[in-house]
Amino acid sequence: MSAQGILLFSGGLDSLLAARVLMDQGLDILCLHFVSPFFNNAGAKKRWKRLYDLDVEIADAGREMVDLVANWPEHGFGKVLNPCVDCKIALLRLAKKRMEEEGAHFIATGEVIGQRPMSQRRDVMNLIRREAGVEGLLLRPLCAQHLDPTPFELSGLVDRTKLLALHGRGRQEQLELARKYGLENIPSPGGGCLLTERENARHYWPLRTYRSTPSVADFTLANFGRQLWSIQGQRALWMVVARNNRDNERLREAAQERDLLAGLCDFPGPIALLRDGADWERQDLERAAAQFVSYAPRAMQASEETPGQTVRVWLRNAAGQQVIAVVPNRERTDFARPSWEEVKAQKHELASRMDALHKERLAAQKKARQLAWEREHCKTDHASGDGNGLAPETN
Ligand code: SF4
Repeated sequence: MSAQGILLFSGGLDSLLAARVLMDQGLDILCLHFVSPFFNNAGAKKRWKRLYDLDVEIADAGREMVDLVANWPEHGFGKVLNPCVDCKIALLRLAKKRMEEEGAHFIATGEVIGQRPMSQRRDVMNLIRREAGVEGLLLRPLCAQHLDPTPFELSGLVDRTKLLALHGRGRQEQLELARKYGLENIPSPGGGCLLTERENARHYWPLRTYRSTPSVADFTLANFGRQLWSIQGQRALWMVVARNNRDNERLREAAQERDLLAGLCDFPGPIALLRDGADWERQDLERAAAQFVSYAPRAMQASEETPGQTVRVWLRNAAGQQVIAVVPNRERTDFARPSWEEVKAQKHELASRMDALHKERLAAQKKARQLAWEREHCKTDHASGDGNGLAPETN
């Protein structure tokens, strides 16, 4: 039997309560959990089944989210790099597709009016619904009593009297409801995805600035290890140095055809990944290797005991291996990551430019509308014999 409704399920308390509110009135709900480099709790699928008896479907939103972050989102970024309004629009559009495939009647979310300043104000919630193309399809069961009845409430498919009237930022009512439902291991309130954290923004910003078309794999790689960039004008070299064995494995898995992996020939130590390293100049590889060595304590100790001694580093990909000998760069000055202040300043500058472009676009649209109106008006005048028979002037 196909589901009657599709619920956007983050795994946070609100989406869990939304699932219970709907399922408790006998509705068949498909919980959809989206994943991307910025949010991914797919590993909890079994736990959700065990604790809450929910079958959750995992759905990929990586490309859509990366497009938003890599380009300038229509409704801008929040305090950090979170494009919350456009994110919700994108996820609702994906959910709508899934709803149509499933033959379901509606989409539900765990949103609570007034809970978040950027995306859960009444006017913004209306805008999101309109731009996602889900007017007449979207149900917000936790705050439905504050909203107009939806077609599925009016038709009787959903019992409006069993929907809730939550409002605002407080969490007390949600916690009481969770206790009422006997929910164990109550999830903490969702604090937002990785895009809301400054530390992550410092990793993501160079990607969107210096890589022409950053991929889902790029943003995934930006989530772990030491993220280091060497920027020279518009030329940017990206090196990731593992912090632990888990990172070593992830770097091996993340390596692509033009990447180089780096390691120490004679000492234990981390692995590094040089994105597109096969295209780097020899001197860039040496600079990267010299800094990479500084993250290997045993190699550093040996080089301190014999000043000036070089350390051998291997660099390899499927095409072959080379070994270079370098003196460690103790100061770690060649590769770095931008500070949050630098990211913030660049983001503000870009926001002003985008704002100016937006205003220009609006002015051009207004002018085009005015010209169209004038042409139409002139035609009417000609038809009624009032015109002078000349084409309207447009400038
Ligand atoms: S916090 Fe992240 S996942 Fe949540 S709406 Fe904003 S961008 Fe989307």
